[in-house]
Amino acid sequence: MIRKFIQKVFKKKPASVAAAQLKPRIYTRQQHGIAREKISDCAMRTTRLLQESGFQAFVVGGAVRDLLLGREPKDFDVATNATPAETRKIIRRSRVIGRRFQIVHALCGDEVVEVSTFRAVQSSAADDSASGTADAAHRTDEHGRVLRDNVFGSQAEDALRRDFTVNALYYDPSAEEVWDYGQGVDDVRRRVLRVIGDPATRYREDPVRMLRAVRFAAKLGFSLDPATRAPIGAMSDLLANVPSSRLFDEILKLLLSGHAHACVHRLREEGLHHGLLPMLDVILEQPLGQRFVDLALQRTDERIRDGKPVSPSFLLAALLWHEVLASSQRHTAKGMKPVPALHAAMHDVLEAQRKQLAIPHRYDAQMKELWLMQPRFMQRFGARPLRLLETPRFRAGMDFLVLRCEAGELDAELGNWWLQFSAADAEQRRALLESVSEDARAPEGQRKRRRPRRRRSARPAAVAAEN
Ligand code: ATP
Ligand code: MG
Repeated sequence: MIRKFIQKVFKKKPASVAAAQLKPRIYTRQQHGIAREKISDCAMRTTRLLQESGFQAFVVGGAVRDLLLGREPKDFDVATNATPAETRKIIRRSRVIGRRFQIVHALCGDEVVEVSTFRAVQSSAADDSASGTADAAHRTDEHGRVLRDNVFGSQAEDALRRDFTVNALYYDPSAEEVWDYGQGVDDVRRRVLRVIGDPATRYREDPVRMLRAVRFAAKLGFSLDPATRAPIGAMSDLLANVPSSRLFDEILKLLLSGHAHACVHRLREEGLHHGLLPMLDVILEQPLGQRFVDLALQRTDERIRDGKPVSPSFLLAALLWHEVLASSQRHTAKGMKPVPALHAAMHDVLEAQRKQLAIPHRYDAQMKELWLMQPRFMQRFGARPLRLLETPRFRAGMDFLVLRCEAGELDAELGNWWLQFSAADAEQRRALLESVSEDARAPEGQRKRRRPRRRRSARPAAVAAEN
């Protein structure tokens, strides 16, 4: 008990003392090589206005890292010693966001720059006690996860509370200097991702940092520093304590990073996929499932890199598809008809998923729509293909089907036929419908043998309706 108390006090002290004594290494324009023109107008204006009012203001985080790497930053964040209220007064077009920890959004035309006030270190989580800490500003749960993080601090403290050395760099556009409180610039140059401080402690404070490590390593093509990597496998269970919505947001960032394929495989290598994406456990072990997931991820990455929109529900539906298939086969094996089996399977899979990484309900409907459309692509007779063509999400459904064909789950002929059918005129559609052999018109179990006459007459009528 006493030992723990001493450890607690002891561990707390060096963190604040360390921050107070920490001096940045300052890199000049010649040394860091960042061209000022690469900073967005809004970030330039925001830092200038704050500095003219006597405050410190820096571009910080991912943007500085990306500029050092010669990459285009996704967005610009600014860090300052002005409080949100002061910032709000200085930047006329701005608004305060957030309740727990306020930040300011500076607005310039379409661009938004996030301005945050320097925040203090989360040192309390160094505590190993099973009871957590009750310090009002830095409360942690019994696993050491920081529940509150709302104290303003010095710039050095702000640097120490950030996750990785390469994310803790401050660029001052007016002086054209990069301020580095760790070894961020060296790590960028060596392409190493390194946690600031003791990795196990930092993961305990916020287990999401383990996912961020994987995302940044995959996205930037960095290696994980051995000490940063070492605790991940053993600590992955801590992700179970993170609120589901935050976990989902982080997974979505990962899937939409343009490097989803690399990220997911890396998650698996690090043992972080358990309990997050349960389907990956099972699916990546079956050759067909793995091909399908790989293709879906690669296509998503390509679309993002080409600047095309991607739908999270499409990707999530793809990631869960083989689970749905397997479950639906279990139901049909017990004598259920294919369509009710598919409904039952969707329900099973979404329920099981909800217990792990809860997918928000708003995506459910679109995922179900994609899945339910799939059996309809098998029915190539009568008016059905034309009706399917008119459903609002037909294009997404067909892309999903084509992906299944490419992964080898279905015959390529089916996907090609739909691609042609959807692009054809009425005459060509009629010919395409005629070209489908009797056996290929609908899969076993979905043919309505009881009404052959209607089927025959429905075909010309449907084409006529098109004209
Ligand atoms: P991206 O290019 O993906 O936006 P980023 O580094 O800007 O990368 P953000 O998630 O936008 O990442 O976060 C901005 C900055 O806030 C990070 O660079 C990091 O310094 C800090 N940060 C974000 N999340 C955490 C966290 N969980 N723990 C500590 N610091 C964090
Ligand atoms: Mg960012």
